[in-house]
Amino acid sequence: MTLQRTYLDYNASAPLRHEARTAMLAALEVTGNPSSVHAEGRAARALIDLAREQVAALVGAKPSEVVFTSGATEANAAAFTGHWETLFIPAIEHASILSPANASGARVIEIEAHPNGIAAMDMMTAVAAQGRAFAALQMANNETGVIQPVGEAAVHTRAHGIHLHCDAVQAAGRIAIDFQALGVDTMSLSSHKIGGPKGAGALIIRDGLSLPVLMPGGGQERRRRGGTENVAAIAGFGAAAALAARELERAAAIKVLRDTLERAILELTPEAIILGAEAPRLANTSCIAWPGKSAETLVIMLDLAGIAVSAGSACSSGKVGQNHVLAALGLMPEIAQSAIRVSLGPQTTVSDCNAFLDAWRAIRGERPASQHKVTAATGSGGPAHVSSGVH
Ligand code: PMP
Repeated sequence: MTLQRTYLDYNASAPLRHEARTAMLAALEVTGNPSSVHAEGRAARALIDLAREQVAALVGAKPSEVVFTSGATEANAAAFTGHWETLFIPAIEHASILSPANASGARVIEIEAHPNGIAAMDMMTAVAAQGRAFAALQMANNETGVIQPVGEAAVHTRAHGIHLHCDAVQAAGRIAIDFQALGVDTMSLSSHKIGGPKGAGALIIRDGLSLPVLMPGGGQERRRRGGTENVAAIAGFGAAAALAARELERAAAIKVLRDTLERAILELTPEAIILGAEAPRLANTSCIAWPGKSAETLVIMLDLAGIAVSAGSACSSGKVGQNHVLAALGLMPEIAQSAIRVSLGPQTTVSDCNAFLDAWRAIRGERPASQHKVTAATGSGGPAHVSSGVH
């Protein structure tokens, strides 16, 4: 008998949406090169144009501001192109921000984080930038889900002529984003976090901003990134973005599931700590520390029980050691090293949460119980409406 799997690692990668797969399969049948003027070429171009509109609409940007890339890692690295003398970089940023910042040769001013998971952007106001300055601030953290004060940071960066880049990978499709109103200069997105294919993403570049050419070549993407476009991946990304935009209101139902799960865990394990719980958080993310346990061991035990969650960022999995985000929050090592990330998505059900709780109970050496269950509200029919069955 094969063990039924429960996937609770949406922040690492979300399941491919049916509509994205359909759009990709249709795009694979289109022969033309999007740069060709004939009908076959125009058919491929039309798919990219549609996806550009869909991705732009998800984050309140203009289609002309969207540059498709191979993912958010490329988009983040591309945001750094140009000559910057001062970089303001929060310690809780993703590795795809920290690495290009550290490799740039510019003066890097590290922005610390408060223990609640919010970057201390007031540090930026206290330091005078030298020369051309760049600041990064993610919209939401991949480990804790904590939402960062991007709008406030943008007021300061605009007033001081500092370029502001926002990694919105984890926030897109989970909270409403308005690129125009936020006042950031560039923003990165990743397709596979919203149910599109892996290996596609976008850098949104504010209209009128001139960034160096990201990839010289055939002049694709308005001469910003050369190379024949990955039409199928872009079409899948667009379809996923269109759905994600329509499903934003599902966050409320996901939050009910997540909060109920957290209450049940805290009741079973009073010594557990939910990291970032004091700050505004994404509705889908729970970073749970179980002091005294090793996060790596917990992830392996849960995996053996059929549950997929992660310890630290998937991008650094395989590496043993402290997670840099949790270290930046100034947590005691025994707390940071015991934290696992559980991340839910639109397809997560009440039974997924109960499977997690059963596995958690088994790790504690207890038998599955009818208590501490997440239960579906009468007549709700699915993940959207649940009530707590916790006593
Ligand atoms: N930024 C954040 C916050 C992420 O969580 C990730 C994915 N782990 C990335 C960037 C990189 O995205 P991609 O996988 O598309 O390169």
